[in-house]
Amino acid sequence: MPAHTEPRRDTLTGSGVTRGIAIGQAHLLAPSELEVRQVTIERRDVVHETARLTRAFGAVAEELDGLKRGIAPDAPNEVRAFLDLHRLILDDALLAEAPRDLIRTRLINAEWALTIQLEEVCRQFEAIDDEYLRERSTDVRQVVERVLNALAEGSPTRVALPKKLAAGERLVLVARDLAPADVLHLKDRADLDLAGFVTELGGPTSHTAILARSLGLPAVVGADGARARIAEGDVVVIDADADLVVVNPSEEELQAFRRRTRADAEHRVQLRKLKGKLSRTRDGIAIDLLANIELPEDARDALEAGADGIGLYRSEFLFMDRDELPSEDEQYEAYAKVARAMKGKPVVIRTLDIGADKVLNEAARVSLGMGRGAPRPESNPALGLRAIRYCLAYPELFLTQLRAILRASEVGTVRILIPMLAHVHEIEQAAAFVARAKEQLKERKLKYDARIQLGGMVEVPAAALSLPEFVQRLKFLSIGTNDLIQYTLAIDRTDSTVAHLYDQMHPAVLRLIAQTIRVGTRARVPVSVCGELAGELEMTELLLGMGLRQFSMHPSQILPVKERLFELSFKEAGRFAGRVLRMSDPVKIRQVLRQELRADLAPRT
Ligand code: PEP
Ligand code: MG
Repeated sequence: MPAHTEPRRDTLTGSGVTRGIAIGQAHLLAPSELEVRQVTIERRDVVHETARLTRAFGAVAEELDGLKRGIAPDAPNEVRAFLDLHRLILDDALLAEAPRDLIRTRLINAEWALTIQLEEVCRQFEAIDDEYLRERSTDVRQVVERVLNALAEGSPTRVALPKKLAAGERLVLVARDLAPADVLHLKDRADLDLAGFVTELGGPTSHTAILARSLGLPAVVGADGARARIAEGDVVVIDADADLVVVNPSEEELQAFRRRTRADAEHRVQLRKLKGKLSRTRDGIAIDLLANIELPEDARDALEAGADGIGLYRSEFLFMDRDELPSEDEQYEAYAKVARAMKGKPVVIRTLDIGADKVLNEAARVSLGMGRGAPRPESNPALGLRAIRYCLAYPELFLTQLRAILRASEVGTVRILIPMLAHVHEIEQAAAFVARAKEQLKERKLKYDARIQLGGMVEVPAAALSLPEFVQRLKFLSIGTNDLIQYTLAIDRTDSTVAHLYDQMHPAVLRLIAQTIRVGTRARVPVSVCGELAGELEMTELLLGMGLRQFSMHPSQILPVKERLFELSFKEAGRFAGRVLRMSDPVKIRQVLRQELRADLAPRT
């Protein structure tokens, strides 16, 4: 225990993972590194040790299944996904079987065998050159810790819960690391009001961080030394916006934080009021604010945010993390669910964008005719067989999806969006496939919207520079800025060594976006932007000024962007964009955009 008797003010830094401020009383969790008993055993004890292991695995499985059953139907998808992942890890032979062999061959106790295997699995993960996957070794550790805890105490739950707090008192959890299951246990306790948490480990992409974000809990992760510098019962302020934890703030500081909390809450209430209002600029230009979704269930978030439709449904998520490809009927159900939920509002379904960072399972690839165990066909996947190229290479896969989308067009306003176009002949081939899929449905006497619109994504500079030909053949365009930046600047968007060069403010990127909007608008082909920057407040005025009338973004950004649009004038934004587009230094461009946003926000705060 730290030896401070007087509450001492301190400040810790880490990564803030949810916007906002949380104030509460610190509750420290026991270190998660368990003392692991390591002993050798007699051969006659092998059966006993393996049975202990089986019971401990069973207890954790029961715990995770119980938590999953208890998830509220409206809980964010991530909650279920993380529990599923931990269940998969628990069932994996590498963890479930290998320690049994170690007990038998090395004659060691269950705990020891499990930790040897844990280190082996983690070594494999940590050698992976991908931050997201590397972070998954944390999930493996968290699962193993639960099993170790079950071995030691008969129960996987490690969280020593504080006694009931005084009424109105909120709790800030301080831990070395927190497993998603721990967070859920605490969220479930009706008598505890969890304000947020601080962990020493974890980065912004750790599952605990993602879970905090989806539950709306402010948190700071990666706050080194938190358990040594925060004492039980300390007053803790998590300022996730500033990546800060303030311990025992002065009364004045506390008041200032409370004022900010009230202002944030009032702002959220104000934002909710915008939900039913038509989005338009100060000078009355109507703007469509659309949602990007990945799963059919996400349509609920889109409606909740008052989206004018779905601007991008990333259909590939239906195909990933499974060994069998979804059938036409399964796909139809998913697409129709979204179309029905949106009640006539447009739903833009992007055809399979597989390849590069989004890969099919090996078994699924084998079912398409790729050899088992064959090396990944491309050494440079972002430039390889991806998106429309993939679909054209596997006609049955493409036709099945197109038939499912066409059938769903019967129950709503559905549009087809083709990703990663670079050639006119790709548009022509895609259109021929749509025609073929329609013929096939006609033969089966199934209905579809015969006038369904076919649109294309502008994600490759070649597309942005071929617009005169593209607009003759497509009914709408959607600019995928995430990839447009990658391909324009030759930066692999998954490679952290060149991440500092991935810059949306690069004048080449801004000019390609502006040109696409200009040419599309002139040809009366609607243009939307569906990359991440469509939801960034500092980009709103610039995009509007370029003439953009359709923004498609994560549902959580819709109301803030709507609020921003109410403040902006289409005409003035045009002049502003003209000025920015004449600039050539990305650093200055970013400064100008930030200054402009801050100047407009100032009167609000
Ligand atoms: C994009 O590239 O901007 C886009 C929206 O597609 P994704 O992020 O799915 O590649
Ligand atoms: Mg893309």
